[in-house]
Amino acid sequence: MPKQAKLSRIKSFKSYTIKEAADIAGVSTATVHNWSKNGLRLMDEAQPTLVRGDDLRAYIKGERDKRKAVTNADTFYCFSCKKVRHAAANMADCIITGNRAKLTALCKACETVVSKPVTVTAVPALSRVFDLTITRHEATL
Ligand SMILES: [Zn+2]
Repeated sequence: MPKQAKLSRIKSFKSYTIKEAADIAGVSTATVHNWSKNGLRLMDEAQPTLVRGDDLRAYIKGERDKRKAVTNADTFYCFSCKKVRHAAANMADCIITGNRAKLTALCKACETVVSKPVTVTAVPALSRVFDLTITRHEATL
């Protein structure tokens, strides 16, 4: 997935050949074929095979969103590093308020405070991943 795929040039209501789709997205035709294996819908019944502009846009945008901030259970997105990072010393604080929970830790790389919301039901599993300090607050009504 190249960073330079140009979404704005893809017209939703137009259909593209594989070559045109590759050109307009700024990738190789091999990449477009890979995308089709990976879920991009092609109009196989057409000769030559066509890609709908809106499908192409949706696919590229979807892949972009997926990459944006994929944090696993044991990682945080550090706004200082602009990267997904582990917690320093694998320690985290968990503050539970009512049915919400927030995990706070220090970025392993730069020690900036990082946090993320988690579901209360995930806390037991997280306590096996982190050295977790859990604080419970009663939800104020
Ligand atoms: Zn950091």
